Amino acid sequence: MANSAAGISWDLGDLFTSHDDPRIASTLDDCRARADRFEREFRPVLARGNGLSAEDLLNGILQWEAINEALGRVGSYAGLLYATDTAKPEYQNLEQHVEQRSTEIRNQLLFFELEWLTLDDATADRLVDDPLLAAYRHFLKNLRRYRPHTLTEAEEKVINEKDNTGRNAFGRLFSEITSSLTFPLERDGQKENLNLSQMLSLLHETDRALRQRAMETVYDVLAQHGQVLTFIYDNLVQDHLTMDRLRRYADPMQQRNLFNEIDGHAVTTMMEVAESNHKLAQDYFQLKAKLLGLPRLALYDQYAPVGAEAQPFRYQQAEETILKAFEAFTPKFRELSGEFFAKHWIDAEIRKGKRGGAFCASPSPQLHPYILCNYDDNLRDVMTVAHELGHGMHGCLSRKQSYFNYDTPLTTAETASVFAEMLVFDHLLAQQSDPQVRVALLAGKIEDIFATVFRQNVLTRFEEAVFAARQEQRLTAEAIGKLWFDANGKYYGDAVEMPEGYRWGWSYIPHFIHSRFYCYSYVFGQLLVLALYRMYKDEGRSFVPKYLALLEAGGSASPDELLKALGVDVRDWNFWQKGFEEARGLVAELEKLI
Ligand SMILES: [Zn+2]
Repeated sequence: MANSAAGISWDLGDLFTSHDDPRIASTLDDCRARADRFEREFRPVLARGNGLSAEDLLNGILQWEAINEALGRVGSYAGLLYATDTAKPEYQNLEQHVEQRSTEIRNQLLFFELEWLTLDDATADRLVDDPLLAAYRHFLKNLRRYRPHTLTEAEEKVINEKDNTGRNAFGRLFSEITSSLTFPLERDGQKENLNLSQMLSLLHETDRALRQRAMETVYDVLAQHGQVLTFIYDNLVQDHLTMDRLRRYADPMQQRNLFNEIDGHAVTTMMEVAESNHKLAQDYFQLKAKLLGLPRLALYDQYAPVGAEAQPFRYQQAEETILKAFEAFTPKFRELSGEFFAKHWIDAEIRKGKRGGAFCASPSPQLHPYILCNYDDNLRDVMTVAHELGHGMHGCLSRKQSYFNYDTPLTTAETASVFAEMLVFDHLLAQQSDPQVRVALLAGKIEDIFATVFRQNVLTRFEEAVFAARQEQRLTAEAIGKLWFDANGKYYGDAVEMPEGYRWGWSYIPHFIHSRFYCYSYVFGQLLVLALYRMYKDEGRSFVPKYLALLEAGGSASPDELLKALGVDVRDWNFWQKGFEEARGLVAELEKLI
């Protein structure tokens, strides 16, 4: 049966019409001209030092923000187009061209931020507290935190320009390799060539031999590209370490924590709480082995279906289900999400060359977000769409914020998405009376939560280990593979057997390449949502406006401040443990059903 999402592609027309739309060049030219004027006008203004007035600073921020907003649109368009077909030379060219020109223009604007950082504390405090700048108070204060880690303007400019052919180029190489990989697979006597996301999807099949073959094939093919993938990763880790030294970061995660606006101690506490709960996962894996009639799980059994065979979920069904689930929370959610389907803001079909996985891009508060996924007619993909729509709704609700206050740091960026998944999950569970289907749903949710709170935590521990090892020497495939095995072994324990090929399990994970130490944000998001969802269940309707206010605030305050309004303290061990108690509740519910 044809994939139900065939033909579901997005219409990027609200950004630009095609890769050769003349407005792309004219927007870039216009940004360039505005940047010239901006530099001429504001260099002398910022140079006034402690004589700088709040009015002048505000005037500068508004112009700076407007140029960035316009550049953001062009950059988003080029990135989104490239994601639709990473193999198309026109799209590759556009992406690279836009990246280069934007860098030049951003470089020209750079002085503004750097001058803001060179102001003495007394002047900065006076300006930050000025009511005229109230809307940018958080933004300005946030920038000041980078003061000890910022280099001179000339140095920053060189880094930005060289990054395009340096670390960004390695990132592109990684994307081009992993999205063009094909995996030969024999199924029902037919030989097929599948892409990576199709292969990973096979790990959810009922047929054990197929799952095993799929997993082994994935690692075989990755191993064939092992030399390049290892080289890319090793190089990026070293690049990161070099920049840490130059920017005076004390440890490899510090920059990410700063960016996430989260205190390193809160992250450490969260990670330790996760590790102290590994037994919960291992008990579940043993339970699952029993359900599957196996003495012990192998890694390729981890996501094997249990309970009633999952029915194919057509895309149109997914839309209906998701909208109903959202509506039950608040009609506002249905209204916001409905637009994504109706107005073609989602690219769902599976195509060759298209970027794998799923994401939501929110280019600007003056515009709506876009969603990309690879919809494969199953329940997991329903959840993926719900997840991305959560981001999408967040992007819509925070449109009342200005560009600089629009995005949230990663720590809270996954709140809306994971919460949206919970809504859809609960809706589906409530609809089902067949205990076997309930088993399947619950097991799916538990595995999903574990894949986030435990596995993403493992990924972060692995990154820490890799960075520590790179301080000593260049990384080999063997060394990385061993660190990967060690980190995973602590999670799976004796409960899950890891096949030898899994030593390549690290090599296709884009976060390690494009956004290092990102993964703990998923842990943060999932545990936070489990706690928030508990609040929603306890408080009912009265929770909804508080939650909407959280999303509407966008990035206008730090996660800490935003979450305090909901009574959350991220430094508290017990807060994180609460999330695991919710997960334990789900496992107990499943045990009851069995
Ligand atoms: Zn997400």
